[in-house]
Amino acid sequence: MILINCDDLGYGDLGCYGSTRNDTPHLDRLAEEGIRFTSFYTASPVCSPARAALLTGCYPPRISFSLFEGIPVLFPGMAVGLPTTEISLARVLSDAGYATQAIGKWHCGDQPEFLPTNHGFDHYFGLPYSNDMGRQVDPPTILDDLPPLPLIVDGEVVEQQPDQTSLTDRYVAHALDFMRSNADRPFFLYLAHMYVHVPIYVQEHFAAASRNGDYGAAVATIDWATGVLMAELDALGLADDTIVVFTSDNGSLGDDPPQWGTTEPLGSSNAPLRGAKATTWEGGQRVPGIVRWPGSIAPGRVSDELVTAMDLYPTLAALCGGSVPDDRVIDGRDISDLWFGDAPSPHEAFFYYRRNDLEAVRVGRWKRHYSKDGAAQPALYDLEADIGETTDVLAVHPDVVAELDAIADRARQAMGDDRLGVVGTEIRPIGRVENPRPLTVYDPDHPYVIAEYDIPDKG
Ligand code: MG
Repeated sequence: MILINCDDLGYGDLGCYGSTRNDTPHLDRLAEEGIRFTSFYTASPVCSPARAALLTGCYPPRISFSLFEGIPVLFPGMAVGLPTTEISLARVLSDAGYATQAIGKWHCGDQPEFLPTNHGFDHYFGLPYSNDMGRQVDPPTILDDLPPLPLIVDGEVVEQQPDQTSLTDRYVAHALDFMRSNADRPFFLYLAHMYVHVPIYVQEHFAAASRNGDYGAAVATIDWATGVLMAELDALGLADDTIVVFTSDNGSLGDDPPQWGTTEPLGSSNAPLRGAKATTWEGGQRVPGIVRWPGSIAPGRVSDELVTAMDLYPTLAALCGGSVPDDRVIDGRDISDLWFGDAPSPHEAFFYYRRNDLEAVRVGRWKRHYSKDGAAQPALYDLEADIGETTDVLAVHPDVVAELDAIADRARQAMGDDRLGVVGTEIRPIGRVENPRPLTVYDPDHPYVIAEYDIPDKG
């Protein structure tokens, strides 16, 4: 199994999802050879909660992973992270006999207890959090005085401020090593790309070929990396035996510029969706979702059924003979029926949580909004007729509103809603350590601090 998770890649960024400015031939082929989902949701519009949800099959508020001491994502040296009481997808697969490797961005906690090698991964190579959380030239206040960006092997920092231009090449090299070393046994590779989170540093040959600036070059690098892994599966004779999943942790910045630095849009796209990363409009949480498994999943299929990144947990567990824990609530559902044929979504509803606020709920074609950024903002949209959430029909469908409100209320009772003062009754605690320490400490004379990131885009 290969699970490719991109950072901030938008719904409209791939050719197979309608992009006309990025070239993604390998990903388009992946979709042609498998199934492409058009209503694939990530459980959060920002990084840390979305990643923990993917790995545990649970909504972030269910595992107290949607707000970190008042901050929406984890920062270096925080005391909190994903506790080992949560049984990650990697642990399930490892227990089922899989070799497991995480490569790339983690962002579920940087203290030793929270790192991938304590969550079922045999090995880890990557950045423990976002690529803008290092030493920067002229950083915005929120990113001021952060320690050098650490590159980690398993639990050890092996490099500080790594050259981001070449980092994806190194990720791919590690991935190939892992695949070749484990070609004769079941393996699970979790490749969590650095791209396309800002700041974006790319190789010159990708930049030269891009029609969409450095952003298009970063997308092209992801596409190239996917092509390399597919070619390696062919070379190893493993293509028909390997499930490949491709997705993104949250939507892109879309037409918005990064939060700091340049005022120019990046060239990212959530089209035709409204909104962007960090919002519960569709553009924040509806993301690319592609699955390829030659011989088992018929090629060229497109499904508009509502599925989520949380579903990968029980689905992949079932397909590998692993066992999903039965002593706790898991929000994801086994969607293998949808992979193999026409089946309805197993979800009664999808809940859009931002921080600990239930901001919206989707049931079938209807999406009911309650709030945005802590303030009430009621609306109802018909996503089948109006995918861009342009026309509020709240007043026209009181029966629909009543039905969705009842479903939303049940979610609030279980998982809480800070804005309304509701404390959830079915939530599990976040992990916490005493005396947390950043993985690195800034030393201006340190010989390994070679790159002071100097692109002003942060976000
Ligand atoms: Mg992200």
